[in-house]
Amino acid sequence: MPLTVLPHRDTAGLSEGQLLVDGKWRAAADGELWRHRHPATGEDIGGFAVATVSDVDEAVRTARRAFDEGPWPRARAGERIRTLHRYSNLLREHTAELQALQALDNSVPLSFGGIYTTSVGAAADVFDHHAGWIDKLGGDTLPPYQGGDHLAMTFREPVGVVAAILPWNAPFLLFAQKLAPALAAGCTVVLKPSEYATFSVLRMVELLAEAGLPDGVVSVVTGPGATVGEALITHPGVDKISFTGSRAVGRRIVEASASTFKRVSLELGGKSPSLVFPDAPNVGLAGMTSMGTVTMGLSGQACVAHSRALVHRDVYEEFLAAAQMMAGAITYGDPFDAGTLASPLINERQLERVLGYINRGQEEGARLVTGGSKVEGELSTGHFVQPTIFADVDNNMAIAQEEIFGPVLVVVPFTDEDEAIRLANDTEYGLGAGVYTADSKRAFRVARKLRAGTIGINGFTVEPHLPFGGFKQSGLGREGGRSAYEAYTELKTVLLPL
Ligand code: NAD
Repeated sequence: MPLTVLPHRDTAGLSEGQLLVDGKWRAAADGELWRHRHPATGEDIGGFAVATVSDVDEAVRTARRAFDEGPWPRARAGERIRTLHRYSNLLREHTAELQALQALDNSVPLSFGGIYTTSVGAAADVFDHHAGWIDKLGGDTLPPYQGGDHLAMTFREPVGVVAAILPWNAPFLLFAQKLAPALAAGCTVVLKPSEYATFSVLRMVELLAEAGLPDGVVSVVTGPGATVGEALITHPGVDKISFTGSRAVGRRIVEASASTFKRVSLELGGKSPSLVFPDAPNVGLAGMTSMGTVTMGLSGQACVAHSRALVHRDVYEEFLAAAQMMAGAITYGDPFDAGTLASPLINERQLERVLGYINRGQEEGARLVTGGSKVEGELSTGHFVQPTIFADVDNNMAIAQEEIFGPVLVVVPFTDEDEAIRLANDTEYGLGAGVYTADSKRAFRVARKLRAGTIGINGFTVEPHLPFGGFKQSGLGREGGRSAYEAYTELKTVLLPL
């Protein structure tokens, strides 16, 4: 598909770049549009509405009305289950179209529709998973603790109006991680996609109506975070904010939510380590996997990237050689080309940021093993950066402490297990970690001591039923699994004297 073609123009019923408020697609109150530039070529691929403060207000009021009076929070379990399953089936039927829209939005290569975290299939699985909780999670019946006889019962009730704010890098999965538990619990939602991945999310939303979700249960406001997102997080009609994105915006959300004590779930950044021990079953594979997490698909623009490798001195050179081989195998370019393995950086600002860190690493004295530059030549209009490896990195350097969010692997040597654990935990983040060892006792000993939300032993994956989230400054709460469903509910206790 040529990049200049807007696939949604051919898609019956999809309003080009409009807001969805009260079940109707419409332009912004002042008609303003945001132009989206394709990250791989810089081409203008379309415009979408920039919601005004009054648009956001109307969307929240609609969601409030739908929550207080509408059918969805009152629907029987069976109806909600069937609606979510109809939706997951629709997603699967529209996979090719949605993956193409994503490639236009954020340049994730089509060949990586197969990578689970950026796939439509992952989103469909998350909806199926949460449909499964609807008729299974009840409350408790509790005996009196003291005094007279009474019956105490607990109920899980929907938390109310949810503001769901998405990043651009994995719009399908993250849309599902928020909307599936929110809808399963009976909440209503105002959704704000990232301004760098809007078209694919609009199509996801349009399919909700086809699945039979009543009007007004989900509204969508599009546009930049500083205005549209800000209007949403400060709106007193929002009960809960569910956010995935950067630590800086997460901090702002915590501040903004304080005035009305909104419930908050945050999935933020990471600087996740791989710990490679000398008895790793395959040091070469560990090197290739670590490099793969900062290159394949999203070029390291992934919260789960294992971008900080801690490698035992005995296998250090072997690890570096494998990581370097992997770097050499990465191909980038047009996301619609079957041979493309990695995306460009999402925008000019991110390009400057990544190149800034690469300069800083060199100034700080780290050894640049490979890469280090923007890709020039025929790809120069895109924001492509070469796969980059820094060796002999000190864990105190900025490149080892800060989330670069680009194709940069930093490799820190260690001498023994205690040092590896200390270095791994010496970070403000705590999203994930990888442990590479053939010794299962060591694997569990180390995993238990790491301060991070998900630890992969000799491999790593994200699945819809597994809790996912961060320790420390990587977030608050968990997505995936039962705890995610519960995070969209309030617990109510009812006492009945007997
Ligand atoms: P970002 O924080 O810049 O933007 C995320 C969303 O917040 C966008 O929709 C943006 O418009 C909105 N926003 C910006 N300012 C806002 C404000 N003041 N009020 C309300 N909303 C506002 O992040 P990004 O560049 O889209 O994504 C990259 C970040 O997301 C990285 O830090 C990455 O690690 C993190 N991330 C985390 C996970 C996870 O599950 N932990 C998953 C993906 C991405």
